[in-house]
Amino acid sequence: MQFHRDGFRPGDPDVQPPAPRPPACRRSAAGDGRRADRRLRAGGPVLAAQLARWPQIRTMLVEPKLAPMEKGRADGISVRSMEMFQAFGFAEKVARESVWINETTFWAPDGTAPPLSRVARVQDVPDGISEMPHVLINRARVHDMFLDVMRNAPTRLVPDYGLKVADLRIDPAAAQYPVTVALEHTAPGQEGRRSTVRANYVIGCDGARSSVRSAIGGALHGDAAHQAWGVIDLLAVTDFPDWRMKSFVRSHDEGILMVLPREGGHLVRLYVELDALGEHERAADRGMNADDIIAKAQRIFRPFTLEVKEVVWWSIYEIGHRLTDKFDDVPADRVASRSPRVMLAGDACPPTARRPARA
Ligand SMILES: Cc1cc2nc3c(=O)[nH]c(=O)nc-3n(C[C@H](O)[C@H](O)[C@H](O)COP(=O)(O)OP(=O)(O)OC[C@H]3O[C@@H](n4cnc5c(N)ncnc54)[C@H](O)[C@@H]3O)c2cc1C
Repeated sequence: MQFHRDGFRPGDPDVQPPAPRPPACRRSAAGDGRRADRRLRAGGPVLAAQLARWPQIRTMLVEPKLAPMEKGRADGISVRSMEMFQAFGFAEKVARESVWINETTFWAPDGTAPPLSRVARVQDVPDGISEMPHVLINRARVHDMFLDVMRNAPTRLVPDYGLKVADLRIDPAAAQYPVTVALEHTAPGQEGRRSTVRANYVIGCDGARSSVRSAIGGALHGDAAHQAWGVIDLLAVTDFPDWRMKSFVRSHDEGILMVLPREGGHLVRLYVELDALGEHERAADRGMNADDIIAKAQRIFRPFTLEVKEVVWWSIYEIGHRLTDKFDDVPADRVASRSPRVMLAGDACPPTARRPARA
């Protein structure tokens, strides 16, 4: 009879026993001391957290930043994402630390004074969709939890910070390690230094401006919405009644914004509609900053007041609807005869992508 969840092993069941160390690592082709891994990932940690559970697969995760993320862009966690977190074992932790979005309110001019009224208040997630809540939490915190999963997995995987994929080459005829990846060092004082890693597979999770996608000759195609949006996390004093609710506010002639309360009870995120852009114009060309986002939000909120005490983070971005023309390195005429060696995931191969103009 077993007397702990996983049998006879005491301790935290989320921390799995370490796998035996893999056989001596191969040196890279460049002989620079970097190990050649079976599977190399560029970017975010979700796939890496899955791969970390398999000691038979040696995984290396490279990230140009020098340390884990502190402030993230995304903060909305849909019920499906929560279901995925449940599979990784940390949905309860996210549910405990986050702010739950149970209702949404809508504000608009209703033809009577005052100029803005609450015109609707609806349940946020329809019944029967999921047993999980829709929540908001800083993405950096979610990253922490994926890093914990990696660290507690049998492989004890940790990211290699300060490295970015600069280029890669594939030798489809090679039986072992057919992908040679050139990595660029990003730490101060090491810029320009390069290392080489050879891998059996590379998965590019390196975002909308993916270097891995460029290296396999992929590009994004589609149209931008020609509309600049501002996003800002702030601490403010306001008489807007739904400041701690998810709310959409549509003013008479100044545009729209969305209010999202953040975990911890202080911070609020605003998404604010800014200027329409010309056909070939980028949001960055306008030189807008946090003051422009705040000024526009104050105009949309009238007659309510918004007194900003502190800005924690902001960004200006455009909404685009773009698709990649490549999801892996296999040429269209070789699909039946060759398996992929380089694959893309996440925003690197998007059905739609937001393009941050500056942050
Ligand atoms: C303002 C804004 C708000 C958003 N809000 C939400 C939200 O509320 N909810 C939601 O679900 N989604 C939201 N999104 C979308 C969400 O952020 C993205 O869909 C998601 O981050 C994509 O994840 P990813 O890992 O594919 O790419 P990214 O998050 O872009 O991560 C790419 C990673 O690759 C690294 N990298 C870059 N270049 C290289 C290289 N050459 N070599 C190696 N690594 C590299 C980067 O440092 C980064 O860590 C938002 C996006 C924006 C811009």
